[in-house]
Amino acid sequence: MSWLRIPPAVLALLLLIAGQILAPAARAQSLLRDAETEKFFRDIGDPLMAAAGLDPRAVTISLVGSSEINAFATLGQNVYVYSGLIVAADDVLEVQGVLAHELGHVAGGHAVRFNEGAAPATNITLLSLVVGAALLAAGAGDAGMAAMMAGQQAAQGKYLAFSREQESRTDQAGARFLAATNTDGTGMVTFFKELQGQEYRLAIPQDNSYNRTHPLSGERIAALQNVLEKSPAWGKGADPGLQARYQRLRAKLIGYVSEPADTLKAYPMSNQSQPAHVARAYAFHKQALPDKAIAELDAALKVQPHDPYLLEMRGQVLLESGRVDEALPSLREAVAKSNGEPLIAGMLGHALVQSAEASGDKARFDEAEKVLRAALARDDENPFAWLQLETIYERRGDTPRLALATAERLTLTDGDPRAALNAATIAAEGLPQGTTDWVRAQDIVQLSRNRAEDMKKDGRRGRPG
Ligand SMILES: [Zn+2]
Repeated sequence: MSWLRIPPAVLALLLLIAGQILAPAARAQSLLRDAETEKFFRDIGDPLMAAAGLDPRAVTISLVGSSEINAFATLGQNVYVYSGLIVAADDVLEVQGVLAHELGHVAGGHAVRFNEGAAPATNITLLSLVVGAALLAAGAGDAGMAAMMAGQQAAQGKYLAFSREQESRTDQAGARFLAATNTDGTGMVTFFKELQGQEYRLAIPQDNSYNRTHPLSGERIAALQNVLEKSPAWGKGADPGLQARYQRLRAKLIGYVSEPADTLKAYPMSNQSQPAHVARAYAFHKQALPDKAIAELDAALKVQPHDPYLLEMRGQVLLESGRVDEALPSLREAVAKSNGEPLIAGMLGHALVQSAEASGDKARFDEAEKVLRAALARDDENPFAWLQLETIYERRGDTPRLALATAERLTLTDGDPRAALNAATIAAEGLPQGTTDWVRAQDIVQLSRNRAEDMKKDGRRGRPG
């Protein structure tokens, strides 16, 4: 999978490849990006958005890498679901219930009002995510997590002051969306009860902040259940296909974020289910036991051959274990079976660059460039794909294109727009005028100037308390 928050060991490798220091701060890196999870969010989110009268193309659902159990909606119709919430929710109906509620905030325009009423709070939340992710990327995991949580708590103090009266109305809206999509609402009730009671089924310690951003009370949950029970979908259970997909991606996430010992306790070897195989694959990969990780993935692939996300994971384990040429077939098939999914294609591009570096076969750089460019044309919020292109242009001595790729990456990852401005300026001076790349360099110059201006203004106003 192409998680964009990468372990320090892999980061070190990337730094080595790039021959440069990866810029600190990371807007994109505060989000955990994963092709399988993003596709799943779309598949459960789109029907609920349509029921809410929202345009699915305008609403994004993103995964935040944090052990907190939380979810919220912000200005711009963005919904954020924390990885901690996925770990805590062991049933797809619970996630559908939470999403229905968050989309109720979006449909009600609460995020907009929230932003108008408490812009500083919104900024603190997002800014602290940036700082937190930067520290995480730098390997300072605990400090990064603390910075994130401090920012969120600061934001929540303001949020709570005027969100209480909106919660019940939002529940009612969420219940309508569930009914309209014929989705069983029992998960919404059980999960809210669980969060209110802080009774977790999983023995992994978690911070329940959902209860603070969305104050839960017995009366509120009872009122919600009263409405949900009237739907014919009440008690009918989850869609089996969605449930199976959810269980597997949740297990993958648990394997990715948890200590291997905890993962192996939650998914002992006696458990031969698909979720258990993928969870243990990450546990073994994190313990630097690639053969055991591959064995788990091969067992899962026996049941679901040609599954693009299992193949992607297999390719990742091999790639990060230094077995680049073995990784290529899995990644090529993963790209083909996922219809060229950009995050997976980005990983194939990474593998091709590694292969070119190892073998000295320069033709591999050409193939990598093509793969990476196609991926970025579909989804340009992938700093690591830009980083791979930087390597290619550096090896070719193509300084203007190297500068442009650097500017693209810094735009996504660097809190300070001046570095991107510098890189884009070098690119604009070196590229042939009027070409697509030259136009893009000009755009980044302008964008970075505007961002630098905005930051200066914010600085003058000072950090709101
Ligand atoms: Zn809410």
